[in-house]
Amino acid sequence: MTIKQAIRFAQKYLQNTSMTPRLDAEIILCHILDVPKSYLLAHTTDLLREEDHARFLEMNRKRANGIPIAYIVCEKEFFGRRFTVGQNVLIPRPETEMLIEYVLDFVTRKTCTKPCIVDIGTGSGCIAITLAKEILDSHIIATDISHSALHLARTNAKDLSAVIDFRFGDLFFALDPSKDGPFDIIVSNPPYVDIDTVDQQSPLQSSLQYEPREALTPPGLPCSLIIRLVTESPQWLSDSGLLIIEIGHDQGDISLHIAKKIYPTAAIQIIQDYSGLDRFLIVDQSK
Ligand code: GLN
Repeated sequence: MTIKQAIRFAQKYLQNTSMTPRLDAEIILCHILDVPKSYLLAHTTDLLREEDHARFLEMNRKRANGIPIAYIVCEKEFFGRRFTVGQNVLIPRPETEMLIEYVLDFVTRKTCTKPCIVDIGTGSGCIAITLAKEILDSHIIATDISHSALHLARTNAKDLSAVIDFRFGDLFFALDPSKDGPFDIIVSNPPYVDIDTVDQQSPLQSSLQYEPREALTPPGLPCSLIIRLVTESPQWLSDSGLLIIEIGHDQGDISLHIAKKIYPTAAIQIIQDYSGLDRFLIVDQSK
């Protein structure tokens, strides 16, 4: 089978299970051959070696069973860097890159030097590590309540040469009040998905099935951790600090309500993602 034939095969084979069969095939081939995408275009008539062909079919089978592509190739690109992912962490989402952009813009606008940042519930570490790479003089703490997530995040930090202070624990309880804080920036992408309202037939639902439930949905109400983060954050946020939390598309009103109560004098807003859905709560005390 040639590269071109492999892509054609996958396009047909995955057409009912994936919204992006061609892209999936390319990601799988690039992973197996360890080449960039441009290589595939320039080598369409190259024959796949027998073992690569077998791996290609096996990975396609997994994809056809609904396993997200990132878990099949064990990696996902986020803000231009490759992160290792496993089924113990959430797959980084493109919309979360907006959170990074907002923080970078804040740091530039406020000319924050040596900002102290905490990422609560770091998962794969994609937010904390990206911020550490993009803001060179920052000091970053990242927490998680999952030991296996922290293990993976540490591996990603090492692979990407990022210096992060990792802590285990439940939200802010992972921090030491006598040593940590106040933080210039608090970021979090907590579990907030209301799994019961997700369409069972949608391809999104089939990918959610494979992600760790505790990283997607908190115990109790879907917005319970967002409420806790806002309520517990004041003792950790500096007087001119920024709190930014990723939220569910239907959690804008409740997030705004709680934030206004807890931070009566701050500038508070909900911003939308690229699909026009409410996605981030911003509490800016510097304004
Ligand atoms: N945004 C992701 C989704 O809707 C979930 C992220 C999260 O739970 N923090 O699939």
